[in-house]
Amino acid sequence: MRILETNQDMARACRECPRPLGLVPTMGALHEGHGMLVRRARKENKTVAVSIFVNPAQFGPQEDLHKYPRDLEGDLRLLRREEADLVFVPTVAEMYPPGFDTWVDAGALAGLLEGAIRPGHFRGVATVVTKLLNLTRPDQAYFGQKDGQQVTLVSHLARDLYLGTDIIVVPTVREPDGLAISSRNVFLNSAQRRAAPVVYRALNRAQGLWQKGERDAELLRREVRAVLECEPLIDSIDYVSVAAAESLEELKTVKGRVLVSVAVRLGATRLIDNIILE
Ligand code: AMP
Repeated sequence: MRILETNQDMARACRECPRPLGLVPTMGALHEGHGMLVRRARKENKTVAVSIFVNPAQFGPQEDLHKYPRDLEGDLRLLRREEADLVFVPTVAEMYPPGFDTWVDAGALAGLLEGAIRPGHFRGVATVVTKLLNLTRPDQAYFGQKDGQQVTLVSHLARDLYLGTDIIVVPTVREPDGLAISSRNVFLNSAQRRAAPVVYRALNRAQGLWQKGERDAELLRREVRAVLECEPLIDSIDYVSVAAAESLEELKTVKGRVLVSVAVRLGATRLIDNIILE
């Protein structure tokens, strides 16, 4: 496994490696969710590259950039175990040198849901993903369904800008109690951690109703919200959305491929999760 720190070294390694090349972009603090992406990439490619970069451009001024968990040693251990070939660990100055000032505007999708709560977040995501894909030119790039809006947006980005990489979406990996695994789960105290699976239970409520034939989207939103509101450790609900998976347009009637997504706050920790109905 080679560790590369500069754009030049990474670009050369990717140019010269056996194809196909799969890229797994991450922000580090790697866990079993990331492990699943790397395993999938390992199965489908001759070379697996992983980037570890906590992208300041996707954090708002009041957000947890400086608190974001970092564990390079642990990350490298996991990546050796999963047999990654190339690990890109650029500094902020390497990715955003003085004079950097070209940004990718991901359009209307970037203003919805997470984007409405976190202004500028998806401009940062779209910009860093474009930079990483242009630098490494992979055949496939792997993203988790856990960040449901991100996969929609990145798929549109790759299509709209002819990035030449197939975007592969990997299902969400969960703890045995249903909580979606996330680097931010370490911030939950033990009572919050016990309460957190309510998020997945709320999503399952929508799925259960849908399986019984319910198609009223507003009713599903209300029911998901009702489950979340029963948990006193949830301090606020940022949104409960029932939207078309492709356009993220809020629906009146559940039809086609539908993304049910929620964001809640437990104390200072924000949890997001989603399921697809199809
Ligand atoms: P992050 O390091 O949080 O930016 O995540 C890097 C990639 O891993 C993103 O594509 C995430 O969607 C994906 N990911 C994070 N957590 C999970 C999970 N529990 N299951 C599947 N994919 C995940």
